[in-house]
Amino acid sequence: MPTDFAATRAAFALPEDVIYLDGNSLGPLPRAAAARVAECVTKEWGEMLITAWNRAGWMDLPRRLGDRIGRLIGAAPGTVVLGDTLSIKVYQALASALEMRPGRRAILSDTGNFPSDLYIADGLVRTLGQGYELRTVAPEAVEAAITPDVAVLMLTEVDYRTGRRHAMAALTEKAHSAGALAVWDLAHSAGAVEVDLTGARADFAVGCTYKYLNSGPGGPAFIYIAPHLAPQARPALSGWLGHEAPFAFDPDYRPGAGIERMRVGTPPILQMAALEASMDIWDRVEMADVRARSIELTEAFIKGVEAACPDLTLASPRDPAARGSQVSFRHPEGYAIMQALIAQGVIGDFRAPDILRFGFTPLYTTMEDVEGAVAILKRIMDARLWDRAEFKARAKVT
Ligand SMILES: *Cc1c(COP(=O)(O)O)cnc(C)c1O
Repeated sequence: MPTDFAATRAAFALPEDVIYLDGNSLGPLPRAAAARVAECVTKEWGEMLITAWNRAGWMDLPRRLGDRIGRLIGAAPGTVVLGDTLSIKVYQALASALEMRPGRRAILSDTGNFPSDLYIADGLVRTLGQGYELRTVAPEAVEAAITPDVAVLMLTEVDYRTGRRHAMAALTEKAHSAGALAVWDLAHSAGAVEVDLTGARADFAVGCTYKYLNSGPGGPAFIYIAPHLAPQARPALSGWLGHEAPFAFDPDYRPGAGIERMRVGTPPILQMAALEASMDIWDRVEMADVRARSIELTEAFIKGVEAACPDLTLASPRDPAARGSQVSFRHPEGYAIMQALIAQGVIGDFRAPDILRFGFTPLYTTMEDVEGAVAILKRIMDARLWDRAEFKARAKVT
């Protein structure tokens, strides 16, 4: 059945006077989330108390939700688990992958990767010592840099700033033929573009749920390991809930079955209750429909902005196949322009040094939103409405 986007939009609580183009950073509130979280608080926590770990199924939630996300990213049931934040999941995936390639010391990534992924890799390299190194090259130069000394290729599929999309299957194949493993960060892919981890033969993947998947601020991340590798993966963060039998309270660590070993500690139950409300919406959605609509929206936005605002320069790939579900434009006064847009109800965000970033999320973004945003942006640019001191003072979060 084709996805009913009018129904999915109606399932989100969006303010009347806002055009929300930042679901790539923080997804909006699913209408059912408040009631689901309240139920979890009052009925489960409140009445069942500690027995809810069994009676409300809390202990299995990270796996059950992992399977529901798995459908959106081409991962078989039982290969995805939730918990912690994305930065932690990057650490876990990278550490386990490196251990599977003893004798090699290089992590290859690109300069467009999200800083946290690179900081985490850098920290891990420092902890490991022994000549480990993080190598970064320009996104376009990655393929040529996959040399036989690379242990792990670690990339974010869709660039958070430009929306440029790596060719996951081709780069994974290149990594494998060079004897390396591939770790993919799907922060800007899960729920944004069609992903086929199984088909691409990805080794590890990680991603967050508070962006396109709408679990709310601080929602847990997810991690995937290819089923043939999971039994060999040694968890670097060997917490008790990744143990084969947590309630045996065994002094020796034995990794849990398959992906379960990537669990660390107590999962965030309230946050996962919010995610359940969002996944009830996602369960009725086909990623092929989302992708097709996303391309219509981003194409229309690029065309509209380029016609209306000649001072803005497209920073995203022009070819829709080469970008994710966001569109970025550059302008030296990008920060002030974005603040002026937000003041007029069009919410996107700014990424240093000069990027205005707009996310398109077909579950609730409409063509009217695109047209409205272009019209307001044109007014701001034509009348230089951004040129005011109040729009130039940088806030903590941009
Ligand atoms: C959003 C994002 C993160 C954020 O990590 P958290 O630990 O969830 O704060 C990390 N990596 C990438 C690629 C991201 O887009």
